[in-house]
Amino acid sequence: MGRRILFLGPQGSGKGTQASRLSALLGVPHISSGDMLRQAVAEGTDLGKRAEAIMAAGDLVPDDLVVAMVAERLGKEDARCGFLLDGFPRTQAQARALDEAVHGDAVDTVVLLEVPHEELMDRLLKRAEEQGRRDDTPEAISRRLELYREETAPLADYYPQHGVTLATIDGFGTIDEVFVRIAMALAGDA
Ligand code: AMP
Repeated sequence: MGRRILFLGPQGSGKGTQASRLSALLGVPHISSGDMLRQAVAEGTDLGKRAEAIMAAGDLVPDDLVVAMVAERLGKEDARCGFLLDGFPRTQAQARALDEAVHGDAVDTVVLLEVPHEELMDRLLKRAEEQGRRDDTPEAISRRLELYREETAPLADYYPQHGVTLATIDGFGTIDEVFVRIAMALAGDA
């Protein structure tokens, strides 16, 4: 059985970038709920139609829709030897639903990326300018950071209470520096 790692961190913490690198290193799929939802929107599926306006506002897509989407993805063959979850679960209800869907051993390690608030805002505003992502308006960015604090950050307590290892990583630095910190933390508890 491979690694089942959850990346936790606010928007702009670099978790997508780091999860994608680590996925290449470990040879397990990078499962990003945000990427899956953006794809559903681009393809105009029923799910995409329901999610589009919610995502543009920076709000959370309803738990049942996201849970069904990710549970189906985790059931695919390539996820049997491990995976990296990015952006899911984002609420305690999602974490509980995930545990139920996969009989309690969904995740073995949580990687929590911590970045100071000012650095986050700098990165996010820069990204909005460079990439022109339609859902990166200043209002949507603040809303996502607020929801992260209220709904998602408590998962950093939830998982250790359920026997999952928590690796808290300083996410301030270059992509390479942060990646080395993550790889070392994971090697330590392998
Ligand atoms: P992300 O790329 O992870 O920042 O996700 C982009 C947007 O997709 C979020 O702002 C939410 O609207 C939606 N989203 C992604 N993952 C979830 C989730 N686990 N639960 C609810 N909404 C989500």
